[in-house]
Amino acid sequence: MNRSLRIALLPPLLLLALSLTALTSANAADQTNILIGTGGKTGVYYAVSNSVCRLVNAELSRKGIRCSHQEGGSVKNINEVHSGKVDVAIAQSDWQSHAYKGTDKQTFPDAPYTELRSLFSVHPESFTLVASKRSGIERFLDLAGKRVNVGNPGSGQRATMEVMMRYFDLKMDDFSRVMELPASEQAIALCTGKIDAFVYTVGHPSSAIKEATLYCESRIVPVTGEPVDRLVSDHSFYSFTTIPGDLYKGNPKDIATFGLAATVVVSEEMDADLAYQIVKAVFTNFNRFKRRHPAFRDLDPRQMIRDNLTAPLHEGALRFYKEQGWL
Ligand code: GLU
Repeated sequence: MNRSLRIALLPPLLLLALSLTALTSANAADQTNILIGTGGKTGVYYAVSNSVCRLVNAELSRKGIRCSHQEGGSVKNINEVHSGKVDVAIAQSDWQSHAYKGTDKQTFPDAPYTELRSLFSVHPESFTLVASKRSGIERFLDLAGKRVNVGNPGSGQRATMEVMMRYFDLKMDDFSRVMELPASEQAIALCTGKIDAFVYTVGHPSSAIKEATLYCESRIVPVTGEPVDRLVSDHSFYSFTTIPGDLYKGNPKDIATFGLAATVVVSEEMDADLAYQIVKAVFTNFNRFKRRHPAFRDLDPRQMIRDNLTAPLHEGALRFYKEQGWL
């Protein structure tokens, strides 16, 4: 190319480059990112957030909406919706209620978080106590003197474990060792003999409990008795539940315990259209959503928008549910 032609071509090329840069930054500015605070990879929350994100991305990426998730736990997720670090929290119904109402100052010192809004509830979760067979643990009080993983701070099971310990009048000092491993590390700790037992508030079947019952001889221990009766009668978000027998190796019989529900929470500050689009993506593809995990098998949209929710429905979600004639 001769020199004069190069000079003549330069301005159009420069213009093109400049406008391309402007275009990409305009696109970046137009993009809406949704971040979901979920649970560990071996739990069921991960399947919830993964499924929501896949549907949102499939339906809405052309509108510039992009969904991703990050590992956490009920309490951390709710705190991060409150502080604006995440947009959506998957959280246990007990902690949704305490956060919204400010009824557990130990877990949420700054609550009530009156800005919390519900999108829907999901699968039932059971407070699940798993012990190695050789530990001899047969009931909750047998945890005294044992090495126990009480759950990592920020997780739902840790907070619910602390509630249980108050009801059973057990202190951390009563255990011979207290560990705070995250859910995904509990099974291996149990089966390598580092701990005698762990607790997990989770939907069933769960891969974490599968691992713990496959890798070594362990049993799911019933959580029953007067303190549990009192707990359930004191709080509307708890109920008696059963972990079905035969879901896990070496655990052929149904196991009695108590439970609650997984829920999906946002802030009232979320744009109403965005909340509408998220629930629309989930409920218009509901069979696909349900197929993602066996713990979702009994889910029914009408119940999901009515039951186990303390925070009011977000106005955008409410609009979609009314359009469907569900409310
Ligand atoms: N319920 C647990 C928590 O709030 C998480 C269970 C799961 O990941 O499925 O931390």
